[in-house]
Amino acid sequence: MEIPNRETARIRAHFNPRPYSDELLSSYIARVSRFFGVTFYTYCKLVLEFGRCKSQDIDRSLPLLTLDKLQRECGYKPPELLTQSFSNLWSIPEYSFREPSILSTQIRGGLPHNYAFQYCPLCLEEDVYFRNYWRLAFLPVCIKHNILLFDRCPHCQKPISIQTIDPFIKNIGYCAFCWKNLRSYSYLHKTEPVPLAIALLGSIKNGWFHYEGISTDLSLFMDGFWILTRAFYSTRKNYIKRLRRIQEYYLLPKMKLSKSSAFNQFKNDSVLNRYHILCAIDKMLIDWPCQFISFCNATKVTPSTIVSNNKTPPYWLYSVLRRELNRDWYKCNITEFKACIDYLRSNKYEITKENITKHLGVDISKKFNKAESQILRQYGYTGHLTPS
Ligand SMILES: [Zn+2]
Ligand SMILES: [Zn+2]
Repeated sequence: MEIPNRETARIRAHFNPRPYSDELLSSYIARVSRFFGVTFYTYCKLVLEFGRCKSQDIDRSLPLLTLDKLQRECGYKPPELLTQSFSNLWSIPEYSFREPSILSTQIRGGLPHNYAFQYCPLCLEEDVYFRNYWRLAFLPVCIKHNILLFDRCPHCQKPISIQTIDPFIKNIGYCAFCWKNLRSYSYLHKTEPVPLAIALLGSIKNGWFHYEGISTDLSLFMDGFWILTRAFYSTRKNYIKRLRRIQEYYLLPKMKLSKSSAFNQFKNDSVLNRYHILCAIDKMLIDWPCQFISFCNATKVTPSTIVSNNKTPPYWLYSVLRRELNRDWYKCNITEFKACIDYLRSNKYEITKENITKHLGVDISKKFNKAESQILRQYGYTGHLTPS
């Protein structure tokens, strides 16, 4: 294929579809190929000379040469790859293909196996193109219209497949399988966006995450976030009970459990499950780490079950887990404990857990043993007693 000169590129740019600033690369290629009346695959193979588009998630990676070719053919700089736009989300770029932040297509036999493409029918109605942030796993809600995103065709329930849309369909806002309009629907699930997801979205650009007393590098926050999602996915028998307790604690509807590993589980989960888990993690982070500590105590989720596979959590999480893990590392004796209560009483301090642990110089997560509980009861302590 000959390389067009500047004049032809200028003419092409005049007629060709223009990419939107937040467009998904595959959405743009789908629109361009439809514009030329050929299928996505034909355009990639014959024009871009890239035949592997059926087996590769091209929104994550595409050879530089192919991207250059696309730019020359269309006259516009093509949309960025997801690994470029959202690079601040992960700490080790080499593993970006496994990155749980981005929904996986798991392409099998030319068709996306999972429901990897989410969309908002109202956004799609405004402009017919797929937004790149619709592939972020932690964003199951449209933050513009406050509705749960769709992850399948509302008519035939098949996955959204912009790569297999027939070139003769009017635009890419139609289902590739039943040819019905993706913008028409019978039901919209109205819901507020999770504040955590908005905070994450806001910190993608500069790579710094600041939320509820947590201030850290975004990729480090995400490392910890994925560790927390583990608490919701465990199929080992003794963990299922615990999961139910978590679900009760956060008033979550009973989620269906599956056997795949937690690391991949979240991104392969349904929009609704992801939404519920995000809400729960959001609640854990409120007033960090107080809510989280009471969550661990109430649900008996021990940090060692959250942190498995020898993965070291980032410091913002590790510092809390370590205190939790080593809750009994200093055991004060009963004389000391009694003296502390007497001191508090004679100085008119309130008998609270905060005051006791502060004056004993032990961590707030300390549990009271039998003898200690007895003393506390004598003095009319009404707080929560958890004998160890
Ligand atoms: Zn929307
Ligand atoms: Zn359909």
